[in-house]
Amino acid sequence: MTVERKAIDTLVVGAGQAGVAMSEHLSKLGVPHLVLERDRIAERWRTGRWDSLVANGPAWHDRFPNLEFANFDPNAFASKEQVAEYFVDYAKKFDAPIRTGVEVRKVVRNAGRPGFTVDTSEGTIEANRVVVATGPFQRPVIPPIAPTSAALTQIHSADYRNPQQLPEGGVLVVGAGSSGVQIADELQRAGRRVYLSVGAHDRPPRGYRGRDFCWWLGVLGEWDAEVMKPGREHVTIAVSGARGGHTVDFRRLAHQGITLVGLTKSFDDTRVTFEADLADNIRRGDENYLSLLDAADAYARRNGLDLPEEPEARNIPADPECMTHPLFELDLAKEGVTSIIWATGYAVDFTWLQVDAFDDKGKPKHQRGVAKEPGIYFLGLPWLSRRGSAFIWGVWHDAKHIADHIVTQRKYLAYYDAPQRHEDETRVESVEAAPGESRVHKVSEMGVN
Ligand SMILES: Cc1cc2nc3c(=O)[nH]c(=O)nc-3n(C[C@H](O)[C@H](O)[C@H](O)COP(=O)(O)OP(=O)(O)OC[C@H]3O[C@@H](n4cnc5c(N)ncnc54)[C@H](O)[C@@H]3O)c2cc1C
Repeated sequence: MTVERKAIDTLVVGAGQAGVAMSEHLSKLGVPHLVLERDRIAERWRTGRWDSLVANGPAWHDRFPNLEFANFDPNAFASKEQVAEYFVDYAKKFDAPIRTGVEVRKVVRNAGRPGFTVDTSEGTIEANRVVVATGPFQRPVIPPIAPTSAALTQIHSADYRNPQQLPEGGVLVVGAGSSGVQIADELQRAGRRVYLSVGAHDRPPRGYRGRDFCWWLGVLGEWDAEVMKPGREHVTIAVSGARGGHTVDFRRLAHQGITLVGLTKSFDDTRVTFEADLADNIRRGDENYLSLLDAADAYARRNGLDLPEEPEARNIPADPECMTHPLFELDLAKEGVTSIIWATGYAVDFTWLQVDAFDDKGKPKHQRGVAKEPGIYFLGLPWLSRRGSAFIWGVWHDAKHIADHIVTQRKYLAYYDAPQRHEDETRVESVEAAPGESRVHKVSEMGVN
């Protein structure tokens, strides 16, 4: 099937939560647009996560403002499928013009005329504007130190599904952010011998004085922080909504049976070495944990909040043996470790976006998502406008800002040179959705201003 649409005012690439939020705001403001998604709506929540994953934040928090999770305890943690369904329902709510199963392969700025030419898997589109909503976590990254030994099964956390998927034997999980820590916990509970390589991390309490950490980060203004504090580029956050939600406590994981090790340094066939930084990393995580309790107490005091005291939250368990006598190297073969899971994060891939919107290191150059190349917008990237930008609740607000910017630009252009733009929506007649796809509007149905 070909995309018969030849021209559109605003093209949104990707229909994860960012694309859906963008479409809602553009629809509200009457901006003709189309969302192209190469797979399905919220595909990464369906197939880019492990089977047991639940949201890290409770349902009252990890959602868009205009829809609650249906028939769901707002304090509970939605499963990845429920999150995906939530976005499908959300898109249906305002009849989002999303076309699934179409990949955007190339975007180039037009020479000598406005707009962009967009090559897709189903034809070429002209667009005045392109919103890049292809995700904060696109390409799994495995560091170059990964061993070449054929005796080891190695996967990225993006490809981890469940313990049964791995061959018999122990597992080294490298990376102790929310993914690594949850996967290590699941594997250990499934009876695996687990080594967890722990780097710098924050570990907020799941809840304190009767409020979830998402609430505390909100009222303390932490989600709204506009820039990352210097030197924290490699500090990950370790939180978990698994099993009803709990505070990530590395000592507890060790007492449960997981062997903690420092940062993974190098491999020599099946021998691996670790940095001597485990205790420091854990202690810095404790400092972060305790500082949030302090800030929460101060907030409660200042505002006269009658929240139950929780002094026991300050009890830190004794250091486990793996902290007091840390391992600096390990022979994986000898210890029966057969798999490595790299929970080492993601990179972005904008090779298809051939426009002047990047700095000399290839990073998107933008202000709150408005790229230096006029007409290009980025949405959903970490720290796009603030700490919450790559998260469910945060992306919705960034999308609103971008939609406002688009409307303002359209007004400027409409005033002087409307005839030059792709305003002729009569060319956008027949875009039919194939069975099983989202319905796609004719733009004329959506109101053009
Ligand atoms: C393991 C994990 C757990 C997370 N848990 C939470 C959580 O609990 N709460 C929370 O708020 N956040 C969470 N996040 C962070 C964030 O909410 C998710 O990463 C979310 O998927 C980001 O949504 P997005 O729409 O920006 O990007 P994505 O979900 O990645 O969506 C981008 C879409 O673009 C499509 N696409 C990409 N390239 C093209 C192209 N060229 N043409 C057409 N389509 C394209 C993709 O198929 C994809 O569907 C989690 C992230 C991870 C990795």
